[in-house]
Amino acid sequence: MDRIIATPSYTREIIEKTQFFFKKNFGQNFLIDANIIRRIVQAAGITKNDFVLEIGPGIGSLTQFLCASAREVAAVEIDRQLIPILKETLADEQNLTLIQSDILKLDLSALIQEKNHGQPIKVAANLPYYITTPILMALLEQQLPLSSITVMVQKEVANRMQATPGTKDYGALSVAVQYYSQPHFDFVVPPSCFMPRPAVDSAVITLYIPQQRLYPVGQPDFFFQVVKGAFAQRRKTLVNCLQHADFLSISKDTLLAVLSGLGLPAAVRGEALSISQFAALSEALLPYRNTK
Ligand code: SAM
Repeated sequence: MDRIIATPSYTREIIEKTQFFFKKNFGQNFLIDANIIRRIVQAAGITKNDFVLEIGPGIGSLTQFLCASAREVAAVEIDRQLIPILKETLADEQNLTLIQSDILKLDLSALIQEKNHGQPIKVAANLPYYITTPILMALLEQQLPLSSITVMVQKEVANRMQATPGTKDYGALSVAVQYYSQPHFDFVVPPSCFMPRPAVDSAVITLYIPQQRLYPVGQPDFFFQVVKGAFAQRRKTLVNCLQHADFLSISKDTLLAVLSGLGLPAAVRGEALSISQFAALSEALLPYRNTK
């Protein structure tokens, strides 16, 4: 590997030389600690067999290490100003495809087909925090051939992704992430590892994507409506949250009977339900789905 990009001095040098200006609206906080990058690559379990998708390469700090460990890397960057910079900092990387695009607008299925014959790929990224959830949900909901997603996110968001029922962090994001994947909290990263420094602690988390679906749900869109409805008002009971939900046509008594049929108490709150219980609840509520 040539000179390591992720040092404070080289990062500053690149920024000054190219007159790059950080864009807050793109969530640009670049890693300046090579040890953290090594640990991300290790957590992602990248080998020379892997095709890796990186979201938001920035000036190439993580990309450089991904190229050294993977068979091939595709890095998708939205900021046009960074493309010529990346072409220079990563000029020697023979196994890299650089794509200028908004990750949310890219046809990832076609990319995986072209680059990896549709076989499962790994995702690795220091995500822009302003769109962490939309990016992760887009990756998960499209049911792309992915084997794992290793991402740097705000620590608080990583906590929510892996939270268990009944805890304060458990919510619609926990259910959505754990419906599609098995999260593993890797490690915490302090603000001092970035330039510029973010205001909060960060964490790396890996989402392992199973080959088979974890939960049998007939209509996932309805399942997610029920989950969102259940968490819509946190201090209310599930019955109070769901009885007037616009996606259901159900009386309070019938709703209570459905809960009782599932062995759930009348005063149960959404945050107490496991994903299996949400799956059973959405199946039981399906006949009362409001399709109007
Ligand atoms: N990977 C680099 C690093 O670790 O130093 C940069 C990480 S920085 C937190 C996030 C990067 O994502 C920025 O380069 C930003 O321009 C890019 N980005 C922001 N929104 C994006 C989007 N919708 N699609 C692709 N890249 C995006």
